[in-house]
Amino acid sequence: MTTSEDSVFTKIINGDIPSDILYQDEYCICIKDISPQAPIHLLLIPKTPIPRLVDAAPEDQQVLGHLMLKAGDMAETLGVADAFRVIINNGANAGQTVFHLHLHLLAGKTFSEGMV
Ligand code: AMP
Repeated sequence: MTTSEDSVFTKIINGDIPSDILYQDEYCICIKDISPQAPIHLLLIPKTPIPRLVDAAPEDQQVLGHLMLKAGDMAETLGVADAFRVIINNGANAGQTVFHLHLHLLAGKTFSEGMV
């Protein structure tokens, strides 16, 4: 059951608020971002509510690796395996707004070489 302390992503994982779910398994969920920054903008979210990447512990190693592999799988499934970006914002000053770890998968446009 979701509590008021839970992140929006925990509420989505628990089925308490609707979302466009493209994939899920025992470790993670993949949804469409509600405010896409590219033609394809997915979020890969662990079911374990790790607030930020820096809060991950050694026992989270398997789920972190799983998220990376699933990002690649989703890019292949969507036909964008040759050109996509994976971004993690860690902390408010890095642009993190939802404090439940997630990977952004962005694709479907040409990215410039700026920033990274
Ligand atoms: P970040 O700024 O890295 O924390 O990313 C949070 C992302 O979650 C943003 O890109 C939001 O557009 C997205 N987001 C927030 N609420 C929802 C929601 N209910 N369904 C899908 N994406 C969401």
